[in-house]
Amino acid sequence: MIINEWIRQYGLLLFLVTLVMGCAPAENKEKQSAITAPAASDLPQGKINDQRINNAASEPGSWLAHGLDYKEQRFSPLTQINRSTVKNLGLAFELDVGTNKALEATPIMVDNTLFFTSTYSIVHAVNASTGEELWRYDPQVPKDFVRKACCGPINRGVSVYEGNVYVATLDGRLVAVQASNGAKVWEVDTVIDKDRYYTITGAPRTAKGKVFIGNGGAEFGVRGYVTAYDAATGEQIWRFFTVPGDPSLPFEHPELELAATTWKGGSWWEVGGGGTVWNSIVYDPEFDQVYLGVGNGAPWTRVIRSPGGGDNLFLSSIVAVDADTGTMNWYYQTTPGDNWDYTAVQDMTLAEMEVDGKQRKVIMQAPKNGFFYVLDREDGELLRAHPYVKTTWATHVDMQTGRPVENPETDFSEEAKWVLPGPLGGHDWQAMAFDESKGIVYMPAQDFPFIYSLNAEFKETGYFKRNPGTSNLGIDIENSSILAEEMAAEAPDAKGYLKAFNPLTGEEVWSVDHVHYWNGGVLASAGGLVFQGDGLGYISAFDADTGEKMWSFNTYISILAPPITYQVDGVQYVAILAGTGAVENFVGLVTTETAAVKYGNFGKLLVFKLGGNLALVEPRILDRSIPEQPLMTASAQQLLRGEQQYNLVCGGCHGGNARSAGILPDLRMMGDGKHKIFKEIVRDGVLAAGGMASFADVVSVDDAENIRQYIISRANIDRAEAQQVKGSAGR
Ligand code: CA
Repeated sequence: MIINEWIRQYGLLLFLVTLVMGCAPAENKEKQSAITAPAASDLPQGKINDQRINNAASEPGSWLAHGLDYKEQRFSPLTQINRSTVKNLGLAFELDVGTNKALEATPIMVDNTLFFTSTYSIVHAVNASTGEELWRYDPQVPKDFVRKACCGPINRGVSVYEGNVYVATLDGRLVAVQASNGAKVWEVDTVIDKDRYYTITGAPRTAKGKVFIGNGGAEFGVRGYVTAYDAATGEQIWRFFTVPGDPSLPFEHPELELAATTWKGGSWWEVGGGGTVWNSIVYDPEFDQVYLGVGNGAPWTRVIRSPGGGDNLFLSSIVAVDADTGTMNWYYQTTPGDNWDYTAVQDMTLAEMEVDGKQRKVIMQAPKNGFFYVLDREDGELLRAHPYVKTTWATHVDMQTGRPVENPETDFSEEAKWVLPGPLGGHDWQAMAFDESKGIVYMPAQDFPFIYSLNAEFKETGYFKRNPGTSNLGIDIENSSILAEEMAAEAPDAKGYLKAFNPLTGEEVWSVDHVHYWNGGVLASAGGLVFQGDGLGYISAFDADTGEKMWSFNTYISILAPPITYQVDGVQYVAILAGTGAVENFVGLVTTETAAVKYGNFGKLLVFKLGGNLALVEPRILDRSIPEQPLMTASAQQLLRGEQQYNLVCGGCHGGNARSAGILPDLRMMGDGKHKIFKEIVRDGVLAAGGMASFADVVSVDDAENIRQYIISRANIDRAEAQQVKGSAGR
């Protein structure tokens, strides 16, 4: 070890003492060797800085930032695993991270260490070539806090910077821990209003000595903002609100004066307005600005949120702000007057490309609304906006005005309508990858239709009251299952696929259909391969030019997270976190072949290399048959009430039509014991330690029983259907 390095590690004083003492007493020598023993070079250092990320090409074996480097292209230059060798790809090691909820993180790999998060914002540091866990940091998020999160206790990863690892917790804290041992350095609470359900699930980003973090919670009714903190101390540097607040109060910053002119009538600030930045924040060293991907409105429906019309800035926008001051440089709004939960929080990718004969520095995004945007990142000029999936809410984007042209046939202000995309988007947070040399993007996409219908109470009374304890969507979520049954004949198909897409021409190069509509993020590599995990539990590699499947491996775990690839000591690895979540199933559409339904959902880190030969044993297939139900005693009116309250309060996690997607308990399968204490579970929180919080503030004693009766009725219907199928199969 060179002397400078030694001094940095163990302190100048100890160094001088060693020099002066010459031959120290035996016991001192022993102490010294004890300090030196855990070979400092084996401890993760996490010495990532701006320069190192800017020069990412000089260390192709590392994965330094969320999307590989600042450009977030998720395209690795590594080639050891390629079209001809991929057939020899096998499992090198696995790590059970002890959760049955969704794993969504992109690991960071630097200096032979993988840093990633699992559920409840727990951080893991793992030796990247052996799988040995080096340390684990648990920020102690209360388990029943999950009630305040739309989509489970998820987290999309850490940022590693200047020797620290940064994690943002489900309950809204930003924490810095030492990369070497997971010891806490500092912690700040980012939440401005503890009475509202703010959560953080996104990965922080770091650059220029700062950590950038937003939040989630729009569905529950919050106001979005992004904050920059000093990476060394946690001191707040700037904060950018994405929507205006209470107009009787002063604007927090000048951009909100402009934004406020686009919100008209109503009292959006009571519900919150939305605009949460819950996933994508990208730093651009070339323009020294940070792009914020801004989410949907709260409530979803604009006639409630802003009855006088208006675009409602900066909802569903990409906003570019100065990295040092948070002052806005430009914005582009993908969905003016958002009415559909069309977030623009999806991953953003920076690139250079020739557009109409001119070299441009561009930013690309495929937000939920179904159009793929290419913008000039110097000034936000719209260059392209081709549809990448079926879109029925708008016919096209007018390139003169830069605005989508809405389709009057799917206007749901008078009557309920099936619309594509639905709230899962044509593409959601699952990462895409971009091959700059070919100008082709590889993206996980889906046609996931949804019935939009105006909130029934608002339709009747013209009044929408914020409900602090549950979702505030402004659509008729209470009657969603009834509408779905009534309108089943017109339902468009739900379908998921992996697509190679040209963002400039809008052409589909190839597309591969999946069995399930909800699948994982994507990785592309110079080995000519595109990697993706799917809902059935397979991770596969596809030929980047043709989409031909070259390799596939059954993990027995449904996958959402994107894979990464890295190289240590001349060996290339592919790593992925496997484990899905509950959010996909709010409409009750279950694919029975998904790994989550078949085997449960026990999350793992899985790492592959050429010649890896670790075998997995197929887990036991779970018995999902519905048991005989207790007596149903409710009147038709009570059942209807139970169905509506189930849809409003329970369906988001336990699944539409009481059908679980395999992650949270399927309530149709409750035994007598659970039925007997149903009220105590729902209202008294007797299972809070496991994550099932008390809902006493939103579910009355009578409604708890109405909900239970509805579950019995659903179980009886599905049980009878299953027996009929079984009976006819026997004939
Ligand atoms: Ca949303």
